[in-house]
Amino acid sequence: MLALDKLFPRKTLGFFPSPIHKLERLSAMLGVEVWAKRDDVSSGLAFGGNKIRKLEWLVADALAKGCDTLVSIGNIQSNHTRQVCAAAAAVGMKSYTVQETWLEWDDPVYDKVGNILLTRIMGGNPIMGGYGYSTTEKDTWARALEEVRAKGGKPYAIPAGASDHPLGGLGYANFADEVAMQEQQLGIFFDNIVVATCTGSTQAGMVVGFAAQEKRRRVIGIDTADDEAMTRRAVTKIANDTCELIAAKGGQRVVVRDADIEIIPDYSGPAYGLPSEQTIAAIRTAAEMEAMLTDPVYEGKSIDGLIDMAKKGHFKGQRVLYAHLGGAPALNAYYKAFEDPENLTKLAREARYKE
Ligand code: PLP
Repeated sequence: MLALDKLFPRKTLGFFPSPIHKLERLSAMLGVEVWAKRDDVSSGLAFGGNKIRKLEWLVADALAKGCDTLVSIGNIQSNHTRQVCAAAAAVGMKSYTVQETWLEWDDPVYDKVGNILLTRIMGGNPIMGGYGYSTTEKDTWARALEEVRAKGGKPYAIPAGASDHPLGGLGYANFADEVAMQEQQLGIFFDNIVVATCTGSTQAGMVVGFAAQEKRRRVIGIDTADDEAMTRRAVTKIANDTCELIAAKGGQRVVVRDADIEIIPDYSGPAYGLPSEQTIAAIRTAAEMEAMLTDPVYEGKSIDGLIDMAKKGHFKGQRVLYAHLGGAPALNAYYKAFEDPENLTKLAREARYKE
């Protein structure tokens, strides 16, 4: 156990530990015991999600440094920027969020409903502009930071997904401690964790947290960035940086091996942010069988991976924990994907990245 609360300041933003429960009907259908850990319902802040768990450590740092504005970046329908805005509102800070176009989804309400609407309701300052998914530092983000400084504010910079940040891996390293505690209470062990991965710190944190435990298990990252190499680079870097940070603070010295970083590229759909017909089918299955809502960008892809891998016999005789990381607020922006599957194929074909 890493016991990170003893090493780093943390600002409570959620209701942790998040709930864990068995997906009874899905388990019966797949012939595999499948449970879910519900980080989608782990906070009262604007529908929550995985960034709340990460932001607890970053917001504590921002407050300690006397910052008054959180500045971040993401796609137009970013769950992350919505949660940054929510965290800022809840602690009395301002937020500026650059809302880029990381994909083109042909829908006149894409930039009006879902996450971006929630950001507007919470009094955030979304800055529309910028193109293309990348975790590298963007000019748009640097300009937003400058704008806050020019107005006399003290910004706190949070990269895309709160990932490539010194404290970005702490939230999900702590998640592993939580799972171990819940396993003890339930008297069970999860051999496999299935998690959607994109900017990397969710999976990276988990890899570190679980590597710190005696009994080894698989952390299976389902790539949603549609760029396996980029995702692997991000997860590896953040995992190693997080190990160093924890050791430097006097915590456990954790060693992450290359084999601990497992990225599955097969379920990422046509591109980042675009679902395949199989993604939509998996979303429907989870909804119809468990009333568990997943989204076309992230969780629909990881639940697709879980279902498909289970059907192919990957988890025979083992127990699987599905990490549900949120994302349902984006569903409104994707209503067309559920109208009819042929429409989806057409939309996916027409959708283009802009460079
Ligand atoms: N699932 C949801 C709902 C998300 O919003 C994100 C954010 O990017 C992810 C999964 C992927 O997490 P990460 O970016 O930490 O890899």
